Amino acid sequence: MSTAKLFDDFNDQYFGGRLPRYRIKVVKRLRVRRKVDKDLNRLGAVGVTDRRGRLIQIRSGQSDEQQIETLLHEMVHAVAGNGHGKPFCDELERIKALGAPTNEKPSLPMTATLVRGSVQDYLDEGLTLQQAQKHVAWDNGCLPSTLRRRFPRSSRG
Ligand SMILES: [Zn+2]
Repeated sequence: MSTAKLFDDFNDQYFGGRLPRYRIKVVKRLRVRRKVDKDLNRLGAVGVTDRRGRLIQIRSGQSDEQQIETLLHEMVHAVAGNGHGKPFCDELERIKALGAPTNEKPSLPMTATLVRGSVQDYLDEGLTLQQAQKHVAWDNGCLPSTLRRRFPRSSRG
């Protein structure tokens, strides 16, 4: 099934048809202009939503199931905006309750303990501190500078 058709079906089934028309592109590399996004590909992101440009990009090379999960994730962004905070989690929970085919679990709110643990995990994987902070920031839908400002000590692992 085409991703455009999936988008229309999901829009009807889980979003009450309230999403505007988006172009859906399945691409090898995600292309974006916003600052946080230049590391998207390196960080292994699988999708990105440009609300103003009404464009959802989905990375190729995923299984059908993963691609559907990514599409739904991006559609939630289309409704809830950037980041994975409360608006995103609420909307994700809402469509899951309606039976949307995704196993994604809403992320936990950022706390100092979680940030420290996450940064340390990435450091243990051999990443530099700067890379680890970028990953953790991305995982939580914020900029590395925001992460460092909010968690000056914990963000050092
Ligand atoms: Zn996201």
